[in-house]
Amino acid sequence: MKFADALRRLLDGNQRFLAGGMEHPRQTPERRAETAKGQHPFATVLACSDSRTAPEIVFDQGLGDFFVARVAGNVADQLVVESLEYAVTNLETNLIVVLGHTHCGAVTAAVQAYAAAEEDLGQMLRKLRPAVTISKSMPGDPVENAVRENVKLVTGAFATEGPLAPMVKSGKLKIVGAVYDIDTGKVTLLGTDSSTK
Ligand SMILES: [Zn+2]
Repeated sequence: MKFADALRRLLDGNQRFLAGGMEHPRQTPERRAETAKGQHPFATVLACSDSRTAPEIVFDQGLGDFFVARVAGNVADQLVVESLEYAVTNLETNLIVVLGHTHCGAVTAAVQAYAAAEEDLGQMLRKLRPAVTISKSMPGDPVENAVRENVKLVTGAFATEGPLAPMVKSGKLKIVGAVYDIDTGKVTLLGTDSSTK
């Protein structure tokens, strides 16, 4: 599937979700039988582990549609990067969505740890610290700012370093950052003016 078509399919699905008109597509026994023969997901998603942000639900998609990595704070270590690389290389998805979300507990913990000048941080909070540092002088809510900055940092790192970067440079892969609003259900793309309307 072309990148633009994949993104449109995602945004259309989110529009259905936030409007309460979900179709729950491709969740039938027939789809299960079809995907048992092999998977051909049309997008790869890195999302937070938060129970309110399941990508298949908020984008109203089905079985076999997404290759997903989920980790608190939607940060990436080597294991996550290799998972995403697998999807692009072996399953030929050409779109990765890094999906942060409002009221993220992991980011909240990182903001609090920064405010308390805590030094003895676990790996997840260490990964989130740059986003907290960048956003600390920004007006507005420190957690929501850090959520957005974290998504930008993760997408930027994928595009410039590691195994995904050459695929982005060659045009084989597009990486999109987005934030899911857990109050409204709306996904907003970052770095562009587009959204789900
Ligand atoms: Zn979260």
